[in-house]
Parts: sequence; C-alpha cells; structure tokens
Amino acid sequence: CIASGSQVIAETMRKLCQDLPNVEVECCGHVPHIGIANTGCQGICELGPLVRIEPYHYQYVKVKPEDCAEIVEKTVCRGEPVERLFYESQNGKTCPKPEDIPFMAGQTRVVLEHCGNIDAVSLDEYIAVGGYDALSKALFDMTPDQVIQEVDRSGLRGRGGGGFPTGTKWKQVAAHTEAPVKYVVCNGDEGDPGAFMDGSVMEGDPYKLIEGLTIAGYAVGATEGYIYVRAEYPNSVSRLHYAIAQAEEAGLLGENILGSGVTFHLHVNRGAGAFVCGEGSALTASIEGNRGMPRTKPPRTVDHGLWEQPTVLNNVETYANVPNIVLRGADWFRTIGSDNSPGTKTFSITGSIANTGLIEVPMGTTLREIIYDIGGGIKGGGDFKAVQIGGPSGGCLTREHLDVGLDFDTVKKYDAIVGSGGLVVMDEHTCMVEVARFFMSFTQRESCGKCSPCRIGTKRMLEILERIVAGKGTLEDLDKLEEIAEFVRKNSLCGLGKSAPLPVISTLKRFRKEYEEHIVDHK
Ligand code: SF4
Repeated sequence: CIASGSQVIAETMRKLCQDLPNVEVECCGHVPHIGIANTGCQGICELGPLVRIEPYHYQYVKVKPEDCAEIVEKTVCRGEPVERLFYESQNGKTCPKPEDIPFMAGQTRVVLEHCGNIDAVSLDEYIAVGGYDALSKALFDMTPDQVIQEVDRSGLRGRGGGGFPTGTKWKQVAAHTEAPVKYVVCNGDEGDPGAFMDGSVMEGDPYKLIEGLTIAGYAVGATEGYIYVRAEYPNSVSRLHYAIAQAEEAGLLGENILGSGVTFHLHVNRGAGAFVCGEGSALTASIEGNRGMPRTKPPRTVDHGLWEQPTVLNNVETYANVPNIVLRGADWFRTIGSDNSPGTKTFSITGSIANTGLIEVPMGTTLREIIYDIGGGIKGGGDFKAVQIGGPSGGCLTREHLDVGLDFDTVKKYDAIVGSGGLVVMDEHTCMVEVARFFMSFTQRESCGKCSPCRIGTKRMLEILERIVAGKGTLEDLDKLEEIAEFVRKNSLCGLGKSAPLPVISTLKRFRKEYEEHIVDHK
C-alpha cells in the first residue's frame, strides 16, 4: 500500500480534515473528533490503497489522492458512502464492508485479527481490543508451568516451517533451572521470495508479538528476548522499537512487569540480508555479532543457544498465536485447523493469481479454496498449472493436488513443505524448468559455503539448469541433476542445503516432460 501511494492518501486526508470547520484532527493517537490512523496491512494488496471509515465501517478500495475530497465531503462529514469506491465482485455484487469482500470472507483471522483494524502503534487501541489480557492472566492466574501446559495442549507447531511442537521446545528450555540466564528469540528474518506474513504482523500488530514473547519469557524463565528482523523491513524495525518503548513505559515490559516481580527485557536486532540467518544457529550467531553461519547439531538451541545459554527460538507467527491460546484456551485453539496441525496459517499468495495478498486460513484448507475462493482464480482467467509452496526450500504442487489440505504433515507427503507460508501461483504459460532455475539461483547465492555438499552441489545443479534452459542440455544432465539433488539433500549441514534441491526434485518428478522438451527442442 505504501508503494501504491497510501501515505499520500493519508496526508491528503489529514489536510482536508484539518480544513474542516470546528473539527480537531489528530494523527495516530487519541482521537478528539476525527482521527487518522495508519493501520497495518489488511492483506488485500491487489485493491490498495485502502481507506476505511469508522464508525460506518465503509471500505474504499484503490483510492487515489483525487478521491479524498469526495470521501471527506460525503462520508466524513455526512456519513454517506462513495459507492464508486466500493469493491465490486466478479458477479457484480457491491461490497461496502471489508468482510463482504470474497478475499476476506473466506478467511479465519486469529494472528491477523487486528492487522488493518487498529492503529498499529497505539498501545491504547491494542488494549481496547483485549490486548494484554493474556499476559495479565498468565502472570496472575497461572504458574509458568501451567502456561507451558496450555501451549503444549493446544498443539501449536512452529510456523517458521519446521512444524516442531512449541510446547515441547518450551518445556526443554524451562527444564534448565540451573542456567544463569535464558533467552527467548523471535525469528523475523523471513527471507523467502514472495513471503511477507511475518513482516505484516510486526508492522500491523507489534504489541501482539511483544505480548506473546513476554508470555514465553515468563513461561520458560527467560529474562531477555531478541527479535531478529529482516534487513529489508525498516517499518517493522521502527514500529517494534516504538511499541517496545511504549510497553516499557506502561510497565508491561522490563523490570517488575505489572507489579508481578517478573522481569523481561526485549531488544530488536536487525539482520543484514542473509537468507541463511533464518536458520536457528546462524541467527543466534548473527545476534552475537558473529558471521551468520549454521553449526552442527547437537547441541540444540534449547540447550546451548544464544551465548551458549538455553534459548527458545520461534518465529513471529508462532509467538503471535500465544496470547489467544492463553486467553481463550487450548481447547478453543484445537477447534480450528486439522488434528495434527491445529490453528490457522498465514499465507502470502503471489504470482499469476487474481488477488495477490496476505491471508489466514485454518490449517488443512485446500489449495482450491485458497486459489479460487479467496484468490479469485488465475489472473486473466487462465489455467492453473502449479504452485510453489514453502519458498525456495519448498516444492511445487500441481492440479492433482488442488484438493489436498495444506497442513504440515500432509504437504510433506507430496515432496513439498508448508514452510513459512509463501505461495507462488503459476499459470499454464510458466516454464517449470525456469522456475527450478530461479529458485536454485537464489539458494546457490545464499549458500553460506560452510559445507561442500551445499556449496558445490548447488553450484553444479545451477550450471546444469542454466544449460538446459539455454537449450544446451542433454538427457544425461537430467540423471546427473537427480543424483546431485539427492546427495545435497542428504548430506548438507543445515536446512538451507537439505531443502535447496526440493524445487528441482519436485519439478523433475511432475514436469519431467518439460525438461525433456527443452533438450529435444534444441536437438
Ligand atoms: Fe551453509 Fe549450505 Fe552448508 Fe547450510 S547447507 S551450512 S547454508 S553451505
């Protein structure tokens, strides 16, 4: 929305409202008469910039600076809608409210519940929608062990891609009662091309993340926390810094939180743009000021993490689920999603899709529902060919998988991973060999070079793919590609190398004919 001019719209609205007689305007804060708030992302990228007018709850889409005067005159002053700015669905239905828009109607928003609905950096607004009730409940009505039990019973699994049970991890760190200090670390490095879920949470609801981290700190006995934010997310960094300062000032963070005697300090650490720093041990090395390189395991981060101390490491979405689990209970959480993957999952949908954007759906939602019901189908009415799921570490799913429910275990059966939730949709005109080459060039560039299977293997695979794309490949190249892919997958040190061959393996398996056509065409 910023790229498509939302800040110009906000400024224009502010100036116009300021000029109204007998009206006071305040931006991003207490609202005397008319308030203009910069909310986080609502997820409907295709329709931005968006303007919501409360209390009428009108949602205007694709707003231009020249529309602002009419909005102020009609809606702000008289409460009347500007109908031409409402979203019109494919069947001609006008949608005045945000929840009427099909893209939103098909979602279950838990993690993103406040994104786009409240002023992202207003602590007052966060508290007004129930923010910090969970922390208060945890601190005064529950023991640390009870908090861990609740998270464990909820079945929450790490949303960063691994799907490891969060409660198990927390238990392991809590068990280190002898440690002089323990840490809670949040992975906000989100480096997958086409993924922007965590960034939207950090920008759109920073207090929820801070609350989740504070509860984690209380539960495992950690007094220090770090949020490692992707270098390319300056808005996340500034909003988190601001929100942390506000929470500290309000006694919700730092020493003696809410008079409970509990201490938890939180710091923001900015990454430097290395994809490999999304890997746990590389991330903690980077926070320590060292080069971000993975190390062999064991020891595991829960035992020897940041500065060799027991460390809970989860991603943004995982922590953002915690306040609702504590407040509403594990049983409520288990009513959403599938048995083995309870809760929701955020996905970014990009590529050849009618509605690009950010969505949140129950785990187990099918690809068909995401692409057609929420995403509006293929851009320009074309045919769906495949979707790359899980970013460069993931694999591709095709038409035959449209009715597969997306959850951690089911997707794995098809040589792919849910990963952090990036979905790149491809239409019938997409060359799958080129897709494999693109993702391989990404992982090859991002390989840290520490272990030879990944350092050399990804390079050789990229060379073969480039040869094939250029029409100079041979059928033997396909065998070689398969052989190296398998070797790299089995022998690389960290997750980057182990998963780098996945796009090649899955495209070779499902689109081998396309590879062969590149070779045959040339001959
Ligand atoms: Fe580095 Fe790749 Fe080895 Fe991971 S697998 S340690 S990224 S060289």
